[in-house]
Amino acid sequence: MAEPSRVAERIPVGISACLMGEQVRYNGGHKRSRYCLDVLQDRFALEPFCPELEAGLGVPRDPIRLVGRLGEEPRLVGTKDPSLDVTERLAEVSAAFVEQHRHLRGFILMKGSPSCGLERVKVYHDNGMPSHSDSGAFVRALRRHFPELPLEEETRMNDAVLRENFITRVYAFDDWKRHVEADPSHHALLEFHSRQKYLLMAHHVEGYRELGRYLADAGKRPLDEAMRHYLQRFMAALARPATRKTHANALTHVLGYLKQALDSDTKQDLLAAIDDYRLGRVHLVVPIRLINHYIKRHGSEYIRAQTYLDPHPYELGLRNAI
Ligand code: SF4
Repeated sequence: MAEPSRVAERIPVGISACLMGEQVRYNGGHKRSRYCLDVLQDRFALEPFCPELEAGLGVPRDPIRLVGRLGEEPRLVGTKDPSLDVTERLAEVSAAFVEQHRHLRGFILMKGSPSCGLERVKVYHDNGMPSHSDSGAFVRALRRHFPELPLEEETRMNDAVLRENFITRVYAFDDWKRHVEADPSHHALLEFHSRQKYLLMAHHVEGYRELGRYLADAGKRPLDEAMRHYLQRFMAALARPATRKTHANALTHVLGYLKQALDSDTKQDLLAAIDDYRLGRVHLVVPIRLINHYIKRHGSEYIRAQTYLDPHPYELGLRNAI
């Protein structure tokens, strides 16, 4: 249970209600997620939502599934009773949800659901034969109306790289919401980019360069347009999971800020730690902790402000596993 002082700081994140242990599935069951409730809830203010319940389908209810052909928007219809078509109803409640939840910094989704599944949800032909796979109807609405919102499936967070990637995106989006969106200005946008540079570089080096070029003359563009463009490209770049190679590249650049302050033996030790990480001998936490130790003592204000060095709470241990 989170302490009261932390509760106010927790980041608002949406979650499929069944993952919270709510008995809202078609069969009256739930899919309580221990990781979300026992670990993430200390950091995230989880806001449960069940689109099917909100669309007026009761509990228990006849199951629904996606039906359609490849290239078409699938429809959401009853598995037993194909005349039950809730496509429009679900689209309406999803759009209304987004309007009322612009404060969210992410959404954790239930795998395989025709509404909440992030990907690889089965789509069927009219005759009941499997056709292809797609995202659930609620997820398509989230992507359409709130494209910058970080999304992840709960089961995919068993993968350490995907887990770290999602939580990094949530914290980066929270930074944006608090420091750019809350008080928009070209200056706030440039400051945001300045402190996110090495995080961006670790995820997508071309995106890092492209956004740097874009911002060089962003002052000539209307602020709204510059913010929209930047945020969309920034979140898309962060959605690409960083690899050992791209982390090693970003770490080497960060180390460059210490070259005047350190003797050559220390620099060799730090380069060796980055190489050990790149070759898979140690986890990311090893070179990051070592470099952070020296950055705190000798780093400029600019490099100390880099979110890359501390993108999410250390206690979550996310960099101990990648
Ligand atoms: S997967 Fe989504 S629609 Fe299905 S029960 Fe869970 S929250 Fe409701």
